[in-house]
Amino acid sequence: MQQLTDQYNRSHDYLRISLTDNCNLRCFYCMPDENYLFSPSYKLMQTQEIRQLAGIFVELGVKKIRLTGGEPLVRKDAPAILEALSELPVELTLTTNGTLVHRFINLMKDAGIGSVNISLDTLSPDKFLFITRRDEFRKVKNNIDLLLNRGFGVKINVVVMKGLNDAEIPDFIAWTKDLPVQIRFIEFMPFTGNRWSSNKVVTWQEIMHTAGQSYAFMPLTSMPNETAKTYRVNGYIGSFAVISTMSAPFCSSCNRMRLTADGKMKNCLFSKEETDLLAALRAGEPIVPLIERSVWNKQKELGGQFSADLAHVSAGSIQNRSMIAIGG
Ligand code: SAM
Ligand code: SF4
Repeated sequence: MQQLTDQYNRSHDYLRISLTDNCNLRCFYCMPDENYLFSPSYKLMQTQEIRQLAGIFVELGVKKIRLTGGEPLVRKDAPAILEALSELPVELTLTTNGTLVHRFINLMKDAGIGSVNISLDTLSPDKFLFITRRDEFRKVKNNIDLLLNRGFGVKINVVVMKGLNDAEIPDFIAWTKDLPVQIRFIEFMPFTGNRWSSNKVVTWQEIMHTAGQSYAFMPLTSMPNETAKTYRVNGYIGSFAVISTMSAPFCSSCNRMRLTADGKMKNCLFSKEETDLLAALRAGEPIVPLIERSVWNKQKELGGQFSADLAHVSAGSIQNRSMIAIGG
């Protein structure tokens, strides 16, 4: 089996494919503003193009594919994409805002998806409306229950922001008492147009401190390449985790590559450079050398754009897309 290795000897077997930069929510930390223009569909990878590019990555050693976006399930041809990718010998998974899961749950089962990441930043319907600018809290909550009832593994992504939802950390952890969910607290990251500032970041250390005031917990063993540091409250069924991209990045063991909805390969979430695989595919040019070169040129840490010294991160000088246009 071939391996995609970079100059720091990291091998890459995990691909995140964004299906669209469109979304039915408007989370302010992800999407620049209401006037954001979604890409027209002809600029996006079509079902067969996604299948072809994904197939090439699999031949190059990819073992896991995560579909993301934007909201992957707003794409009209999402069923066909799920079906096409389910033919590949990979672990197929999905990150979604959860609003449309009830319409897709059978398809997801049929496609062999075993676990899903759902984003939910608050347990308050009013705060949900403030963050996402849409009144969909109940639907998301119901769909989390539906997924659990249907036997899916469920991880809940919570972007923690100072003064907004950090007081809810203990309430989220309380959820793990009787439910087999994993709550993943994510440090707020800077992207184009998302009003990031270092003083809004709640760091891993601060999250642990807040959790420690309410609970006694133990660390769980992490999988290799795992981005989350995982813990379990003594006697609880579920677990919680912290994704400390900003204060303690996990770049040294990174195995991830990304494909944006318009077919550009990014070797890092924060990379400035992009490689246009879709244009090459449409022109009938070889794809493998482009992928290999992109991986080889991956920067050592955080796209080479900043360091984990939070006080010195200048969001304005980071050259990147907005999160919704990258694919989280
Ligand atoms: N629409 C889907 C969803 O919300 O789960 C998938 C795409 S979304 C961009 C993927 C993940 O990125 C979500 O969990 C979201 O909370 C996270 N995310 C978006 N902007 C972020 C930011 N600025 N910092 C940290 N995480 C962010
Ligand atoms: Fe949409 Fe997900 Fe971004 Fe929220 S985080 S705006 S749900 S893509």
